[in-house]
Amino acid sequence: MRIILLGPPGAGKGTQAEKLVKKYKIPHISTGDIFRAALQEGTELGLRAKEYMDQGELVPDDLVVDIVKERLEQEDAQNGYLLDGFPRTLAQAEALDESLRASGTPLTGVINISVDPQELLERLTGRRVCRGCGATYHIKFNPPTVRSVCDKCGGELYQREDDTVETVKQRLEVYRQQTAPLIEYYGRKGILFTVDGSQEIDEVFRAITTILDRQQ
Ligand code: ADP
Ligand code: AMP
Repeated sequence: MRIILLGPPGAGKGTQAEKLVKKYKIPHISTGDIFRAALQEGTELGLRAKEYMDQGELVPDDLVVDIVKERLEQEDAQNGYLLDGFPRTLAQAEALDESLRASGTPLTGVINISVDPQELLERLTGRRVCRGCGATYHIKFNPPTVRSVCDKCGGELYQREDDTVETVKQRLEVYRQQTAPLIEYYGRKGILFTVDGSQEIDEVFRAITTILDRQQ
């Protein structure tokens, strides 16, 4: 199963990805996570990506595309994967298509998680992430049992630097201009499935798995 999770920042891609990769036993490939890990390791890639991430801008296409191509060649991705946060521009989508055409491994489907823009701001500014395992929480909508402590691994929860009001607004605008056109792009290919992301987390999950189980 080769899936893309599409949707604005805060739509719930990471939250659903955590659950989906457990069910379908495929790797979760998040370009945002790759950049944050690179930054933590202090690599050149991480430092370059940070310049853009801090501003709420997209990392340049050539950099992102090369990283994803390399990641998709790894052993664990040969029987499927879930892409989260990639592609984010038409150029990235076209590069991915070309690469999948060459390897004869078409996408199973693109799940578009749709949420009202007003709700996204509250979701993102209240998001907390585990330093240990990367699990995602929300101070109001999906709080951990003990404040600032991850239910899954006991790790410390932190707020991402780009989850401030100002940067979130910029990220939502970048989404509107550069990523939203992908809805039409994949719609035309007949592989786009839109789910209502404003429902409860478990209901969104049920909607997505119903679609994917039909595609298998
Ligand atoms: P994305 O990966 O699309 O940017 P996340 O999965 O990190 O989004 O979710 C953003 C925030 O919204 C997180 O704090 C998460 O806990 C919360 N969230 C995710 N799905 C829902 C939902 N269906 N209802 C309410 N809050 C949600
Ligand atoms: P995310 O974790 O998906 O919210 O991504 C965080 C940030 O990483 C984004 O705001 C971008 O700066 C950068 N990023 C992640 N994925 C991509 C991508 N596919 N293309 C360009 N920039 C990306």
